[in-house]
Amino acid sequence: MSHITLGIIGSGQLGSLLCQAAKKLNIKTVVISDDDQGPAQNYSDHFIFAKYDDEVKIKEFTSKVDLVTYEFENIPVEILKRINKEKKVLPKPDINRIIQNRKLEKTFLNDHGIKTTEWAFIKSADDVEKNEKLLPGILKTNTLGYDGHGQFVLNSLDDIKKDWCFTSDYILEKKVNLKKEISVVISRFVNNEIYIYEPIENIHKDQILKHSKIPADISDEIFKKAQAQAKLIAEKLDYRGTLCVEYFIDQNNTLLVNEVAPRVHNSGHLTINAFNISQFENHVRAVCGLSQEKVQKIADAEMINILGKEIEEYRKKSFSETEFFFDYEKKVIKDKRKMGHLTILKK
Ligand code: ADP
Ligand code: MG
Repeated sequence: MSHITLGIIGSGQLGSLLCQAAKKLNIKTVVISDDDQGPAQNYSDHFIFAKYDDEVKIKEFTSKVDLVTYEFENIPVEILKRINKEKKVLPKPDINRIIQNRKLEKTFLNDHGIKTTEWAFIKSADDVEKNEKLLPGILKTNTLGYDGHGQFVLNSLDDIKKDWCFTSDYILEKKVNLKKEISVVISRFVNNEIYIYEPIENIHKDQILKHSKIPADISDEIFKKAQAQAKLIAEKLDYRGTLCVEYFIDQNNTLLVNEVAPRVHNSGHLTINAFNISQFENHVRAVCGLSQEKVQKIADAEMINILGKEIEEYRKKSFSETEFFFDYEKKVIKDKRKMGHLTILKK
């Protein structure tokens, strides 16, 4: 019987699924979020609604927990560091400093010999002109991007809008002619042991993940290389918990890292049903210092993300015993918002 209480920053679907994994391990959860509608409050033992810079609420939060983790990476590092002075934050705040900043993230990867898309740091329209060789490309805000937010396709210099004032920092990435996208979910434990799930094949629509499946239709060579790079990244970051590496495979079968998520990941949702131990349970085990359990695959699987109004149809459907429908119980349906998912096991 464990006596651990885990603090979780963020109350979305990832937080909900972390709370459920913790419950299975008899670990109590306290969720703090600036969204008073966040669904994780339905699964946590205690919920605190607060702005993340509210010192009093943060104190209340840290006083109730033994350690802290998070479901999303865009929390200001200063806040994570402040919390870390009271209770340990895992993954370490310094990891977030690197990964939530596309320039530092890509520099870290390239410094360790890992290929990314060709890219340049951009502060002005002039910088784009100097890097015309990267067009057609995608201009991405250097920080705070998710699900395609803060991304602009630039086919030519004419696409730089006259009224753009380049108020923040950006990255310009060459557009890759994608053959495939895959991701690797990896968990690293207290004694530096690791578990690497098999690569997952992903399909995005409008920059949002729509479909994931295992096995990924890739060569043995790419399978091994993707896992090896994910391992190297986790080790170099001295990572604790579950991490996901998103990859591009281009038309020449070159493997490129797109980005790293220092957290559980949407493409790993199928691990809940396709493995005896999910990415969420592995994350909770790893950050709470529990040992690794032997992970076994149960079946091949595919996962469909349910976006916006699509959820209304799914709520009316009935499912077979190999289909697992997850309704995130978000109170408001918004266009393109992730509302639930369906995992289908292929037995
Ligand atoms: P986010 O941080 O919003 O997840 P990503 O950088 O992962 O943003 O981009 C989301 C999706 O957009 C990718 O999974 C891919 O499908 C597409 N995309 C992003 N960058 C490129 C690129 N350089 N070339 C081709 N497609 C891209
Ligand atoms: Mg992404």
